Amino acid sequence: MIAGPCSAETEEQVLAIAHQLKETETSIFRAGIWKPRTRPGSFEGVGAVGLPWLQRARSETGLKMAVEVANKAHVEEALKADIDVLWIGARSTVSPFIVQEIADALAGTDKVVLVKNPVNPDLSLWLGAVERLQKANINNLGVIHRGFSTYLKTKYRNNPEWQLAIDFQSHFPDLPLILDPSHMGGRRDLIFDLSQTGLDLNYDGLMIETHTDPDNAWSDAAQQITPAKFKQLIAELRVRSIDV
Ligand code: PEP
Ligand code: MN
Repeated sequence: MIAGPCSAETEEQVLAIAHQLKETETSIFRAGIWKPRTRPGSFEGVGAVGLPWLQRARSETGLKMAVEVANKAHVEEALKADIDVLWIGARSTVSPFIVQEIADALAGTDKVVLVKNPVNPDLSLWLGAVERLQKANINNLGVIHRGFSTYLKTKYRNNPEWQLAIDFQSHFPDLPLILDPSHMGGRRDLIFDLSQTGLDLNYDGLMIETHTDPDNAWSDAAQQITPAKFKQLIAELRVRSIDV
């Protein structure tokens, strides 16, 4: 279980969420500090100043820490801060140059690296990103399915395209596959059903955006849930999973 805010906002916010998540099934705390906004003009993350907040959250709660990295400088900062898990975001997986730069900066690392699917429904770009990391001898890998952009009218922010993730898995059956129902749905009321579908399809984990004050989050407010709701969601999923 990976949970935490879309963005680290303040040290107090990071610590408050981490302490509440410590009382849940969460093992990895996520918080973006470099935020890839599609258009300029909104909050772009606190930057490296947030790294000591995550270190403090880790030492106070024992949770592992995860951040998104999108270039060599991010990787270097994250490694210096000994962040446990690095993930490549959907807007980076589309770029072979960026993926290669990250792979080179991480070559030989035993850190956990997670690769989100590319924003667009292109299986080869997703496979290619994983292959570039493997060629750089990065072997603690997993992937995150967060859905795909589309012009179709759908209730989802990013269309699930479940078959595409199943096709991905047929190429890399041993890589842990994690579902991100937060970015897939884009709305907190869709998280439960998407998560249940992921569990029914034998996904290995969930990444869920969690905030103590979701409505006032500095990014992705509509899709975040409180740690209390997260706890309830996991309990209900477990019950339903036992039923099937
Ligand atoms: C995020 O995890 O906050 C994020 C920006 O996700 P994605 O790369 O899936 O859009
Ligand atoms: Mn987000």
